[in-house]
Amino acid sequence: MQRLNVPPTNHVKVLDGQGWVGLIDHLGTEASILNAARVSFGKLKDSVDEKDVKLLEYLIENRHTSPLEHVVFTFSVQCPLFVRGQWHRHRTWSYNEISRRYTEIDIGFFTPPSLRAQAEVNRQASIEVEGFDDKKMLEKISEHNNQGLALYNELMAAGVCREQARGVLSQNMMVTFWGTVDLNNLLHFLELRDSEHAQSEIREYAVAIKKLIKPLIPNVANYFASKGQSW
Ligand SMILES: Cc1cc2nc3c(=O)[nH]c(=O)nc-3n(C[C@H](O)[C@H](O)[C@H](O)COP(=O)(O)OP(=O)(O)OC[C@H]3O[C@@H](n4cnc5c(N)ncnc54)[C@H](O)[C@@H]3O)c2cc1C
Repeated sequence: MQRLNVPPTNHVKVLDGQGWVGLIDHLGTEASILNAARVSFGKLKDSVDEKDVKLLEYLIENRHTSPLEHVVFTFSVQCPLFVRGQWHRHRTWSYNEISRRYTEIDIGFFTPPSLRAQAEVNRQASIEVEGFDDKKMLEKISEHNNQGLALYNELMAAGVCREQARGVLSQNMMVTFWGTVDLNNLLHFLELRDSEHAQSEIREYAVAIKKLIKPLIPNVANYFASKGQSW
């Protein structure tokens, strides 16, 4: 049996190699989107020609979103708890996650490769500051992660249940989940999360997802690239 917290073959590493997102499965192609749009005329096609690309662009441009929902992706994600918290706000995804009520093995932590300073104007944002002296602070973060794990192990050894002991593990704990979403809602996720307004850590995952799905939806990707989005 394969272990879930090992990345699948088709994956992209993020967060300095500490996290990843992989494409587990997908349903449908750009031809499925076009066929869904043409269902009303009772005509179906397997290929995508130039005229079809125009129809695809028309659908996206005019927010005829339901044909996009016939393409579905399943991703496997390993990310810090705080990224998972932001990700799971997207209610149109279906999620399943390794439960810390069931297992205490393979607990790992994210240590940021560098630190950003708090932005003063936008209370939600951070800024890159040159020469920000972070080596000591980074070591302390790593130490804190390990101390949390040591306390967790101590509680487990004393017979405390996993569901309570996990409370002492930091927000940097890595979690692994599966997420399934249709293309329409994925595009919405990517618009919000591959954005300068999003936290840079979750943004890395959004950029990686674009890399994974671009070969499957090349004309959709080209459409957004032509509108100035990075794809
Ligand atoms: C930069 C940024 C900052 C954020 N900051 C905060 C914050 O400070 N605090 C905070 O709480 N959240 C914050 N969020 C989360 C945000 O409010 C959304 O919950 C999250 O982005 C998911 O977006 P969504 O609801 O559009 O996506 P989804 O849940 O995937 O929904 C997609 C679309 O489906 C429709 N939909 C889904 N569920 C319903 C429903 N129940 N009723 C009606 N329509 C529905 C809506 O049109 C929605 O846009 C932030 C998000 C971003 C990107």
